[in-house]
Amino acid sequence: MVGAEPKLMENGEGKPLSVDDLIRFIRSVVISNEKQEEASPFYVLDLGAVRSLVHTWFHNLPLVQPFYAVKCNPDPVFLKEMADLGTGFDCASSAEIETVLSLGVSPDRIVFANPCKPVSHIKYAAKCALLIRVKVPETSGATFQFGSKFGALPAEIIPLLRASQEAKLQVIGVSFHIGSRAINFNAFEDAIEVAKTAFNTAAKLGLPNLRILDIGGGFTSGPQFTEAASALKLALQKHFPVGVAEGLKIMAEPGRFFSNSSFTLATSIIGKRVRDGIKEYWIDDGVSGSMNFLKYDHDEVVCTPLITGKNSRRKEMKTWNSTVFGPTCDAEDIVLKDFELPELEVDDKLVFHNMGAYTSSCGNDFNGFKTSAIPTYIANQK
Ligand SMILES: *Cc1c(COP(=O)(O)O)cnc(C)c1O
Repeated sequence: MVGAEPKLMENGEGKPLSVDDLIRFIRSVVISNEKQEEASPFYVLDLGAVRSLVHTWFHNLPLVQPFYAVKCNPDPVFLKEMADLGTGFDCASSAEIETVLSLGVSPDRIVFANPCKPVSHIKYAAKCALLIRVKVPETSGATFQFGSKFGALPAEIIPLLRASQEAKLQVIGVSFHIGSRAINFNAFEDAIEVAKTAFNTAAKLGLPNLRILDIGGGFTSGPQFTEAASALKLALQKHFPVGVAEGLKIMAEPGRFFSNSSFTLATSIIGKRVRDGIKEYWIDDGVSGSMNFLKYDHDEVVCTPLITGKNSRRKEMKTWNSTVFGPTCDAEDIVLKDFELPELEVDDKLVFHNMGAYTSSCGNDFNGFKTSAIPTYIANQK
């Protein structure tokens, strides 16, 4: 299921909503939902942001075909937009493959990249050609490294390739992942060097020429992306100087890059108290839900308070040291601490930006707060 050639459709460049427009959009959703008890929390998916990110990818890395990592956010409207824009998909299970096929995406636009698969899932995807996943040096400074679990060590590459020969399985390329939320993109140089060694090893063993290099995910959107793209291009030039001319296909499995800034989460204040001079609020989503990433990493929260409805007369912009709790009975369910916020009241909103990556897909239903049931409203629909 690999070797696809997704192409960028001529869908224009797309433009993400400004923060002001996003807030306006959220306000309109709140007003139209006013009579519904269960109308919060909700997500906003900005399809303009999706189109803009896909454009940015192809503009910076025209030779690297992106296969979006579905696990990062499997929202159906988002997946459909990606499919229409011509990306491929990285699936990790038969269920994810089924979801993507049901959008009308052909199997050659799917890579089944979970390195260790249950037998039943392999049977489901029986016609796969194989990529060998190699372990790469952990030099990317990523928040989430994969090397302790995934990737063949140098000494394991020869036995794995031999085993594939004996089983008459077709290995057509090499993959790796530098780690999710990477910050040091020189890691691509180290990783591509390891991948190149695997290409050479396969050639020495007499395997048919490998023709795919899969550089995995790890990309973040924003200014760091151009840095990553430059580091990547240099490393490719160095280790695969004639690769593309000789038919090498380069693909990637970005997840966070496409989904993170495409989604915004609107939550409501559901409770308030003041204790020791600190204003403490409860909101209706938290670390068992969309903010599960806070268990690993605290510096990523960008939020805008939105004063709504009957509270909107207040104009005071003075801010206070505040704590924001999630809704569950878990004492560790704390979303923000020592965070400056204007004074808020019950029913005001806290809007969290860049909430598309490993948020709704990783939350659970603890205490009956069903993360997977949070609705999504679509902005910038064509
Ligand atoms: C999680 C994962 C990705 C996506 O990683 P991002 O850091 O979100 O880009 C890609 N490929 C594989 C195999 C993964 O496990």
